[in-house]
Amino acid sequence: MPYEIIIGRGGQQPFTIPGTCEAVSHHHARFTVDDDGNWFIENLTGPGGNGIYIKDCNGTFRRTEAKMIDRDSVIRLGSGGHISFTFYANRIIAPDDYSYEFDLIQAQLREIQQEQSRVEAENEKKARKIKAIRAASGVVTLGLLAYAAVMKSPAGFAPAAISGAVTALLPSPDQKRLKAVLEKKKALLLCPKCFSPISEAAIYNRACPMCKAKG
Ligand SMILES: [Zn+2]
Repeated sequence: MPYEIIIGRGGQQPFTIPGTCEAVSHHHARFTVDDDGNWFIENLTGPGGNGIYIKDCNGTFRRTEAKMIDRDSVIRLGSGGHISFTFYANRIIAPDDYSYEFDLIQAQLREIQQEQSRVEAENEKKARKIKAIRAASGVVTLGLLAYAAVMKSPAGFAPAAISGAVTALLPSPDQKRLKAVLEKKKALLLCPKCFSPISEAAIYNRACPMCKAKG
């Protein structure tokens, strides 16, 4: 039999949405489980209302009118800030136990940490290469200058031309990729209950120092 609850400040969800979350309507969203066990969420505030947002795999919240979700989905009621309310869909079935969420965040964090190490190692390799090329081009430039001095020839253009050519050939460390990884990590390092930014240690300790959520 299909299951349906209304989520909102006056909703039937098994957890409290504080009255301070003014962006959340009395009846904000409809949560449904169909006969096949699929989960859905639907916006009840209308296209011009405060709406519902779901976090994508890059950590960005995207507005949606109706969407299939799962236990791992992060849902925000309202467009953001302290007047909105954010929760893991899992809270609908396990309102006070955050072990599922801490497991999930730990697994995602380990993946991001591995990606970060990979990007950092590649950047370090490129930086070493750059240093070596610069050192080599310096030797060549000095040699040319010495040659020009001995031959009394106007070879002043040579060092500039070489340094230009070398700069064009240099590999550049991928700062953009590293920045994207760090941003993804920042978007993940949030308490599964109060969504305050918390440390990697807090995630591994499975406890939020702000709201005391444990799991
Ligand atoms: Zn917390």
